[in-house]
Amino acid sequence: MNHTDCLEGQCGADRSDYRVASASIEQILTGLVLDEESGVVRCCVCDAVIGATDIVFGYAARCVEAAAWNVQRLYCLGCAPATVRSPTLGVTEAIVGGRVGTRSCPTERTHRSCLVEVTLRAYSPPTEG
Ligand SMILES: [Zn+2]
Repeated sequence: MNHTDCLEGQCGADRSDYRVASASIEQILTGLVLDEESGVVRCCVCDAVIGATDIVFGYAARCVEAAAWNVQRLYCLGCAPATVRSPTLGVTEAIVGGRVGTRSCPTERTHRSCLVEVTLRAYSPPTEG
């Protein structure tokens, strides 16, 4: 009996399982446009302008039935919460960190700010009633 061959086989099986997992929150939120209307990204706590290449944090939530994440609040580095404070019924919540990147729009004269280099900072699965 050859134990080395057996372990290699198990390793390959684990990799294929991992590959079919759904996209991570980091992948989903990368490229998200941050300046919907005003063209300026502001911290929701201290109102500081978060400029291009600055570190930005976002509070994202997703209802159990919904496919898309909804980034509801943006924070500067100093105001970013370390954890999701109150688990919410039926809602998956996450705090993500990243940087403000820019994306040029060919049809407009301006560029848009978007979320890049996304990393997950805190995560709260939905609570069950
Ligand atoms: Zn702030």
